[in-house]
Amino acid sequence: MLASCEMSVGTTSRGRRLRVAVVGAGPAGYYTTDYLLRQRALPDVSIEVDLFERLPSPHGLVRSGVAPDHQSIKKVTKAFDRITSDPRARYFGNVSVGTDLTHAELMQHYDQVVYTTGAATDRRLGIEGEDLAGSHAATAFVGWYNGHPDFAEQRFDLSTARAVVVGLGNVAMDVARVLIQLPAGLASTDISDDALEALRASQVREVVLLGRRGAAEAAFNPREIQDIDELEGVVLSIDQPEATLALDPAAFSGDARKNVEFLQAVARRSDREAPRRVRLRFLSSPVALEGASKVERVKLERNRLVEREGRVSAVGTGDYEVMKAGLVFRSIGYFGTPLSGVPFDDAQGVICNCHGRVTETPGGPVVPRLYAAGWIKRGPVGLIGTNKTDAKDTVDQMLADLESGSRHNASPPEAVTKLLNDRGVRVISQADWHLLDELEVAAGTKRGKVREKFSNVASMLRALDAIRP
Ligand code: NAP
Repeated sequence: MLASCEMSVGTTSRGRRLRVAVVGAGPAGYYTTDYLLRQRALPDVSIEVDLFERLPSPHGLVRSGVAPDHQSIKKVTKAFDRITSDPRARYFGNVSVGTDLTHAELMQHYDQVVYTTGAATDRRLGIEGEDLAGSHAATAFVGWYNGHPDFAEQRFDLSTARAVVVGLGNVAMDVARVLIQLPAGLASTDISDDALEALRASQVREVVLLGRRGAAEAAFNPREIQDIDELEGVVLSIDQPEATLALDPAAFSGDARKNVEFLQAVARRSDREAPRRVRLRFLSSPVALEGASKVERVKLERNRLVEREGRVSAVGTGDYEVMKAGLVFRSIGYFGTPLSGVPFDDAQGVICNCHGRVTETPGGPVVPRLYAAGWIKRGPVGLIGTNKTDAKDTVDQMLADLESGSRHNASPPEAVTKLLNDRGVRVISQADWHLLDELEVAAGTKRGKVREKFSNVASMLRALDAIRP
């Protein structure tokens, strides 16, 4: 057995062809592919990458997570498509690892395997009433308005005047912004038609953003909260502003300081009126969602802050309040899901790894030839660009291990294609994706939108059949 985070030294790997499977075509998968193809550390090694994706469409959270009113961020997909246009890369869309191909088969057919599957599910609050109708994961709402096939059938009852969003991260900002802004601002984006229609009919006029800690501990970026303040017809206010005003901005640095300065300016200004409002409520935790058959009220507990081992934590005061609300979104972070045959740390929701080298247990021995990058490696934190350094970290380990000789005879490229073909798996190639992309853009243009996404896998496959019977 190998010591944790160190690979065995074996035969040299120079002068050979390395075949790598990358599983998950989101930002981490693309940056991993890019670093592998651009590597110069081992000039005699020629690397080929097969990028697998469960959906026919690639781009992960850039397509289905980034909010539709943040189109400039989505432009990175052009760079992603360039990466897989390299002749040494192949895109295998609509291939589910674990079902269409097992983990063991990947390990057999490739020299190295990297999981970049992200964090597919959400954290739960664990409070009474959390499963009432009207209580949702923010991730489901985000997937729905972004036209993700897994959430196409979701329905959100927007006939309530007040929605509560729990958590103060950037996802909470996206959800609040999409819920409260005038729908006209979203009409020309790639938001799904269903979501646009529902938002046009929405009765939501107030969003309460609940933070369990204070203004200085908010997880949002300064730009994200300022964007909400700048929305037309929307006023941003702070409930019980005394605690925010009592903070000394000089006691903080970086984003925390910028947030405190901005939020104090919001707290100081005289109460403005607008048809729509976003209320920030700090130092409050939901302790129960109440209602006969659907959410009607949120029971809140007021918190105070305590500092323990350098971290400021929220502690309940026993002071409760009930707030009327017909819709609640928990936006308290994503969580990774295990993959059959791959060691998983259930507590952290990540693949057990050390700098991207998969380990049998947390801190345990290394599993040769197996790696992870992105959120499934480090947890659901960071912006799209964070995945660049993270992917480089993993690729550095992969190249070092190759240099030190972990040898395996990968199958020729045709073997996997044949296996999938024999199983009747309809593989979506890079060329197929380009066709789907063109169809989506054309459908969007007809509606005056950036694109109209296919809302389910069957409609993507039918559209391709219609072009290439
Ligand atoms: P996040 O940044 O980790 O924020 C999670 C929020 O939930 C925090 O405010 C956290 O409060 C709160 N929370 C956690 N557990 C809670 C509980 N039990 N009760 C109440 N509140 C709780 O997660 P995220 O918003 O899902 O974002 C994930 C990553 O994607 C982040 O790195 C984010 O920056 C990034 N992202 C970026 C953008 C953008 O740049 N536009 C957009 C979306 C996402 P505490 O701080 O008290 O733990």
